[in-house]
Amino acid sequence: MSKRMHATSTGASHDRAVPRARTEPRSSSAVSEVRPVTFPLVDRVASGVVTGVPPLMLGVAIWFGWGGVVHWQDLVVLVVTYELVGIGVTVGFHRLLTHRSFKTSPLLRGIFAALGSAAAEGPVIEWVATHRKHHRFSDAEGDPHSPHVGRGAGWTGALRGLFHAHIGWVFRDAEVADERRYAKDLLADPVIRFVDKTFVLWVIAGLAFPFGLGVALTGSVIGGLTGLLWGGAVRIFLLHHATFSINSLCHFFGKRPYETGDESRNLAWLALPTGGESWHNNHHAFPTSYRHGLGRWQLDTSAAVIRGLELTGLAWDLVRVDPARLRTSAPVRPPS
Ligand SMILES: [Zn+2]
Ligand SMILES: [Zn+2]
Repeated sequence: MSKRMHATSTGASHDRAVPRARTEPRSSSAVSEVRPVTFPLVDRVASGVVTGVPPLMLGVAIWFGWGGVVHWQDLVVLVVTYELVGIGVTVGFHRLLTHRSFKTSPLLRGIFAALGSAAAEGPVIEWVATHRKHHRFSDAEGDPHSPHVGRGAGWTGALRGLFHAHIGWVFRDAEVADERRYAKDLLADPVIRFVDKTFVLWVIAGLAFPFGLGVALTGSVIGGLTGLLWGGAVRIFLLHHATFSINSLCHFFGKRPYETGDESRNLAWLALPTGGESWHNNHHAFPTSYRHGLGRWQLDTSAAVIRGLELTGLAWDLVRVDPARLRTSAPVRPPS
């Protein structure tokens, strides 16, 4: 899934906590903001492996499950690895590194980046650059994964758009956001550069961990192998599609409490599996806010993790939305 090769700089124009005014020229500037994929065939094969093998293994897992071979230890391994790696993506890749929603130590920055890398969604700097570009051009020409751009009319166009936004863009695009334009700060960060260069190592560590945990919980190599199946392959599959759903479903279905100038939506039922990321319209309205669940009952476990880090002195300078701005940011209707 990696489309990244070598890069060097950026300025992140996404970084603001107000609804984006869609005034900047888009199609003309988009061309100069991407770079070609250096090894397109290798990239597509890698993408095929990391997105295709896990569902095949899920089939294997279901087969074994139906045979009565699934044990509670496997489910513990699945939940633990899903949560740890998921936090790496939502708290680390997204809120800390893409949007700078809070600050933390270099060590924790590195740990979050390594955990997120284990998701096999691409090296951290490419991930961040792509997501910042998504915010800059959201649902307009230049957005890497909008379900609304150039997909045709009618329900077939809608389906084509959803497929493209969900997973098609991973295989189709021959260009990616230029990290020198979109991730200059991370390219200048030695900790993040190290984690980025050693991406494959973290993916492997993300497979070794559930194997080890399975062995530890069951005392057998077979337990390690089923742990690898559930905490490795099934976890990658589930987390991939939770992440992809933000790009597809959360720009298509759900409520739009804020007028953000794009099609971002809040999708409540996805809040738990996505760690609160599915309050996506809130997020497009206030991108730097450490909380995406802005309403009292909007579940946001990633925000709870960040708040927990703050309470223990491990995170600071959390970006909070001034309640007055919530009221004055042209909401279509207030979050419930
Ligand atoms: Zn979005
Ligand atoms: Zn974002």
